[in-house]
Amino acid sequence: DQARAEQRIVVRDLSIGTPMLDRLTLTRELPAAIANGEMFLQYQPKVHVRRQEINSAEALVRWQHPRHGLIMPGDFITLAEEARQIADLTYWTLNQVIADQRLLSADGRDLTIFINISGQLLGDARFVEEACRTITTSGAKIGFEITETAVIRDPQSAIANLRRFADVGIAIAIDDYGAGLSSLAYLKQLPARELKIDKMFVLQLTSSNRDPLIVRSTIDLAHALDMEVTAEGVETQAAMALLTVMGCDIVQGYLISRPISIDAFRAFMNDQKLQ
Ligand code: C2E
Ligand code: CA
Ligand code: CA
Ligand code: CA
Repeated sequence: DQARAEQRIVVRDLSIGTPMLDRLTLTRELPAAIANGEMFLQYQPKVHVRRQEINSAEALVRWQHPRHGLIMPGDFITLAEEARQIADLTYWTLNQVIADQRLLSADGRDLTIFINISGQLLGDARFVEEACRTITTSGAKIGFEITETAVIRDPQSAIANLRRFADVGIAIAIDDYGAGLSSLAYLKQLPARELKIDKMFVLQLTSSNRDPLIVRSTIDLAHALDMEVTAEGVETQAAMALLTVMGCDIVQGYLISRPISIDAFRAFMNDQKLQ
């Protein structure tokens, strides 16, 4: 993690020196970066607690910048959204995930791979059609992680588009639950089978008084709505044990694995004792 922290500091130092230039430069460089193969994906396994198996994974994008080094999504996703380049980045991600999933299928693995879908894209009719077409044509098992905040921005079109996704077999997970805007009225209407509790509640699960109550009530709420619950940010055995007792369905976090390359992920799947 130290290497990662150092690489982040490089980007931050630049932005302290010339904040606008840095943002503008990165934004201008984004399209070429996608075309030049500077983007890459890492995969993080999601473990089904009761079945004791990895049943899905989340794809997370990174930018290997020729001058700035490794740039994490927190430092460029917002830029891509503001520059209206998030659709192109997401098409790239989707196609890469489909290619990587073929490798996993060749290994005999049957996993849904989730990608993060920016709220902006939920209202983008072209993206919705293009994504549905690509996924249907490929036959890949794909899931979309979306935040509720994205839905609340324009609920009618977001809900309609999520239903389109669900109708073509895309698994929908509500991401970062509890961290942003949230509305039980919409939650009920979403075709989502999975609710992901934001890691801010999970990281301090065993050291805070309030977080276990929030996590437990979220699990109960999700189950009442017939959804499975994922806890992200599971870093310790103690958190894992408590989540298991609470009936959490799926866990994801550094305790199981950090996000890793597709090759490392394939090796991990072959090595691990869960399957
Ligand atoms: P997210 O969707 O909430 O992803 C989870 C983040 O938590 C990831 O950060 C992951 O590396 C990190 N994480 C996983 N396990 C643990 C843990 O045990 N402890 C801690 N402390 N952190 C953990 P990352 O990769 O930096 O991604 C940050 C955010 O960037 C993601 O948050 C997601 O919102 C966004 N993002 C990533 N890839 C994409 C993408 O392809 N498209 C879009 N639109 N957004 C993306
Ligand atoms: Ca996510
Ligand atoms: Ca999340
Ligand atoms: Ca997040």
